Amino acid sequence: MIDLRSDTLTRPTPAMRAAIAAAEVGDDVYGEDPTVAALERRTAELLGKEAALFVPSGTMANQVALRCHTEPGDEILAEAAAHIVHVERGAPAALSGLTIRTIPSAAGVFDADDLRPFVRVPSRYMPAGIFPPTKLVCLENTHNFGGGTVWSVETMAAVARLAHEHGIKVHLDGARLWNAAVASGRREAEFAAHADSVSVCFSKGLGAPVGSALAGSAVFIERARRFRGMFGGGMRQAGILAAAALHALDHHRDRLAVDHARARAFAAGLAALSGIGIDPGTVQTNIVIFRVTAMPAAAFVERCWKQGLRMLPAGADKVRAVFHLDLPENAVEEALRIAAAALAAP
Ligand SMILES: *Cc1c(COP(=O)(O)O)cnc(C)c1O
Repeated sequence: MIDLRSDTLTRPTPAMRAAIAAAEVGDDVYGEDPTVAALERRTAELLGKEAALFVPSGTMANQVALRCHTEPGDEILAEAAAHIVHVERGAPAALSGLTIRTIPSAAGVFDADDLRPFVRVPSRYMPAGIFPPTKLVCLENTHNFGGGTVWSVETMAAVARLAHEHGIKVHLDGARLWNAAVASGRREAEFAAHADSVSVCFSKGLGAPVGSALAGSAVFIERARRFRGMFGGGMRQAGILAAAALHALDHHRDRLAVDHARARAFAAGLAALSGIGIDPGTVQTNIVIFRVTAMPAAAFVERCWKQGLRMLPAGADKVRAVFHLDLPENAVEEALRIAAAALAAP
């Protein structure tokens, strides 16, 4: 079976399980888990931030960040297809009392000119007190529903400069920042330098079973620790999980290039099939989003599923496939063979 539904499906490797078994642990709520502390230091260092906080999920990392940056009644900005907008269960409203204004874009990436009209500028006719205060703009790199697209360091810098000029903070949802770094040959810290806070996931392409982190200034992370506890995210002997994340940082970061190459090869193969629409040049990292023109996307996905290829419909005529470390050697050829058979079947 070839499971391309998500890079979250990866199971820990034998070496990762050995690292988990050997982890030194303590009660992290009392600050006594040495493995969690090591992971937090390592993550902060990789992102060029003063401190980091280990949390159970990317959603919690983002939501703790939103809560830290805002107060109820504030407004945040996010790209229209952002994870924070669509798949965090309404948490910005429920947990932090926020409204979201969304910025449309072609493939998840907008620039400073796109942001400018969304910055509220008070005037004599419309004084500042009339609007909800815009406190934060959220960026997503790579952009999940945009198709794993990469924000360049330069675009991030320009957007952050404009936001900061207007007193708006920047949060980076970097669930797949590792992929952005590998794809563009820039360090994670170069991207993170333009954000006031950054969330990263160890449980996506890096292949750890559980865990994410939030990074920022020491003062910010102190405040984040309080909200992590409030949101129910304080964990006890969490070194068991942190050991897997540390192993992933050491062994699974550079190999993301393999996933990217496989995604490109899959896209090139798909482009040759009639009944599929894709420009392989749009594939930047490990996510492939393609159009099915021969039948409804859900019908195509169902046919593939029956033959052992799992993907997700991503709209009426779109399908998403994600490459990751827990796939067989021949995954691309097999996936293309099954896709072709599904299109050919009566
Ligand atoms: C997966 C993901 C998250 C959230 O991670 P969970 O651990 O599933 O809560 C946040 N942002 C993006 C862009 C993601 O892809």
